[in-house]
Amino acid sequence: MSATRSAPPARLPTLFISHGSPMHALEAGAAGAAWTQLARRLPRPRALLMISAHWETDRPALTQSAQPETIHDFTGFPEPLYRIRYPAPGAPEVAARAAELLGHAGFSVEIDAARGLDHGAWSPLLHMYPEGRIPVLQLSVQTALGAAHHLALGAALRPLADEAVLVIGSGHMTHNLRDRRSGGEAAEPLAYAREFRDWIDAGIQAREIDALVAYRRLAPHAQRAHPSEEHFLPLFVALGAADDAYRADRVYAGIESGALAMDSYCFEPA
Ligand code: ZN
Repeated sequence: MSATRSAPPARLPTLFISHGSPMHALEAGAAGAAWTQLARRLPRPRALLMISAHWETDRPALTQSAQPETIHDFTGFPEPLYRIRYPAPGAPEVAARAAELLGHAGFSVEIDAARGLDHGAWSPLLHMYPEGRIPVLQLSVQTALGAAHHLALGAALRPLADEAVLVIGSGHMTHNLRDRRSGGEAAEPLAYAREFRDWIDAGIQAREIDALVAYRRLAPHAQRAHPSEEHFLPLFVALGAADDAYRADRVYAGIESGALAMDSYCFEPA
């Protein structure tokens, strides 16, 4: 027996990254180090499809710029953060393919040829793929449409995992900025943030997708963990795009500033 025929590209996992403060772009911290390690052990993707909490639209939208600019969509941070440029090219042909898949699933999709990459996309990518050579595109979130809609978006995009496109949801495991405490990674975690993320982790590990989709009704402290949903919905795109029998690898777990759970996952194909 000899393997003379080249194998098709391996099915890629999907990812959920809690991206944290924009300061992670400058100071990787333990979370950034985990993102770097994660990218190093994955097969090299052909393109990166980022679903960032920081691009909200009424209908699903895809970026199609050939050379997306780096958007500095935050205020009040140190000047060096505003000088960062992430040089990755865009992926217009992947945007067309994603639009086709979403269209087949019944979604009405908009193409945005001008928009660049927001910090929900480029801040983790600076640590995962620092050379910025892999093409990147973004898909927006529709915060008013909730978890089931985003799970369906992900399911429609599932074929991309077989086409060497890495689907990455970029949001937060918990995201209540009013509950932030001083001390960064060293701040004592608030009990509710821990309870919420432990409930979500149990659901993820057991692949209890229906319960996860109903998290706002079922999970402890859901309203406090996510006063608004935009930072949690990218998780559902990653779950929807993952293999039905995925194996969840929690690649990082930590709570920053007392209230911001930074859990990140790799959903490995079966
Ligand atoms: Zn954010």
